[in-house]
Amino acid sequence: MRTPLVVANWKMHKTVREALAFAVDFRQRVADRRDVDIVVAPSFTALHAVAGAFVDTPVRVAGQNLHPEPHGAFTGEVSAGMLKEAGATFVIIGHSERRQLFGDTDEAVKAKVRAAVGAELIPIVCVGETLAEREADQTFAVLDRQLEAGLNGLSSTQARGLVVAYEPVWAIGTGQNATPAQAQEAHARIRQRLGSIIGDTAAKRCRILYGGSVKPANIASLAEQSDVDGALIGGASLDAASFAQIVAKNAGTAV
Ligand code: PEP
Repeated sequence: MRTPLVVANWKMHKTVREALAFAVDFRQRVADRRDVDIVVAPSFTALHAVAGAFVDTPVRVAGQNLHPEPHGAFTGEVSAGMLKEAGATFVIIGHSERRQLFGDTDEAVKAKVRAAVGAELIPIVCVGETLAEREADQTFAVLDRQLEAGLNGLSSTQARGLVVAYEPVWAIGTGQNATPAQAQEAHARIRQRLGSIIGDTAAKRCRILYGGSVKPANIASLAEQSDVDGALIGGASLDAASFAQIVAKNAGTAV
């Protein structure tokens, strides 16, 4: 049984004040929600305050990135332990913006996953192909490579709680979401591949989220796909009403 999971990725949006205003509004909208797990990933500066605002609510908080080392001379970086102490339960790793703009390699993703697991943070590992890769019929090869490189060697115990987000790069922030059939095909491939990396039981338990231009108007048909266990949302998660609608439309889709 996989409980749906809906994750807000706020990227570099919302000051502490704006993030708290969202939290005050949003927590009322989801106060009674028990059938969907909800996570918000604010900026590092707002994370502690947002975690405090969501205490005693169903909402958990995530970091958007981390450094693999626990501490050291790494100006501008944040460790897994720091995120955990600030109130995070989850951490997003390998988002395509990190891969494309900040040079995060598959090896870096692997190191970050290890660091997260070591600090008892649940990794949300992002994978996905570019448009050129899709058009060259390389989608499965890219997903296989990213999963192998990022998760290889993770035991089924370490993989407990693991979340994978399928985010086709061509769908992120473009308004062009994958079709439900495209999402299901990719998610089924990811789950099959996970089976060979972390074992079939852990793969069946793993929640695989779809991300890429999710909106209240398109989430329902994506969420009803058997291997789509929720969503990772950028733009449409910045508004409390819109994010709450997406959460509601994931309710009752557990498999
Ligand atoms: C994302 O940033 O992970 C994302 C899916 O963004 P958007 O929903 O805006 O496409």
